[in-house]
Amino acid sequence: MNIIQKGNAHTNSSSREGHVPFIIVDHISAGSMSSMDSWFTSPSNTVSSAHFGVSKSGKIHQYVPITRMAWANGLTTDAIPKAAASLVRQNAPVNPNKYTVSIEHEGTDGNLTEAQFAATVELHRFIAAEVKWLYGQALLLDEQHVIGHFQVDPARKPNCPGPKFPWSRLYQALSSSESVRIENVPDVKEEMGERPIPRGSDGNREEAANMTTENATLSARMIKLEEAAQTTAERIKLLEGRVHQAEAQWNELRKTNQLLSNQLHQLVLKLEASSVPAWAEEAFSFYSDFIHEPSGTTEFWRLLTIMYRARIASVVQTSK
Ligand SMILES: [Zn+2]
Repeated sequence: MNIIQKGNAHTNSSSREGHVPFIIVDHISAGSMSSMDSWFTSPSNTVSSAHFGVSKSGKIHQYVPITRMAWANGLTTDAIPKAAASLVRQNAPVNPNKYTVSIEHEGTDGNLTEAQFAATVELHRFIAAEVKWLYGQALLLDEQHVIGHFQVDPARKPNCPGPKFPWSRLYQALSSSESVRIENVPDVKEEMGERPIPRGSDGNREEAANMTTENATLSARMIKLEEAAQTTAERIKLLEGRVHQAEAQWNELRKTNQLLSNQLHQLVLKLEASSVPAWAEEAFSFYSDFIHEPSGTTEFWRLLTIMYRARIASVVQTSK
């Protein structure tokens, strides 16, 4: 939903003086949307205002913040007990403007266009949500709390919002949470591009402008953060790839290391085997002409030594 702020310094409003809004009053403007805009912002208007206006094309204009009182349902003190709406009578002598939110509708007899009907249903729901948000109190969207101007002021305003105002359809729509289907409404789409007024700004134009700027800044920061998050995610992916690569390299190195260790162990064994034991040195030097490399197992050196000693013994025996 898109609410366009239209109120200006000349728009009539005053304090609610502590009253929490709990009734929505529907009106008919008896004129065009542009005449509504100019009347509610005119310095020569010192008599009336409304919170919202809904055009036939479904545009929603806001003139007065919900937190302020609009001048739409004023009654003289003696007229309040004569109101048709029981809640207005019950709240006498409080001026109904203090606790109502008023919606004007472009038109003359209350016959709303489809777009206008859909927009006003959304607006009623928005107002209830805003009241809940602003005051923490429920504004019920039923026949007691959504009323026509004629129920507030039957003597002077019997035709507001008009005989064709779709009351039963409105109550039916408001009692369900479904959105109203709009058909053949070309001029509603034009407004879709406009930024919605930030929640809680509630018609204070300067504040609304500030909040819109703030929102834009936040949106831009959000986009940047999302981009940064994406870059970070990509970097993490890259790093994960590198970790996998490093792990694979590490495994290769471990295998190579194992292989080299085995080879080294074999070499050590071979070296140990090839060194001539001290007790076999004499035999080795005797047969050194036959043994070109001093490599052999202990068993080899033992047999060589036995052979050498047997030879020596036979030589000694022969020489005797
Ligand atoms: Zn009215």
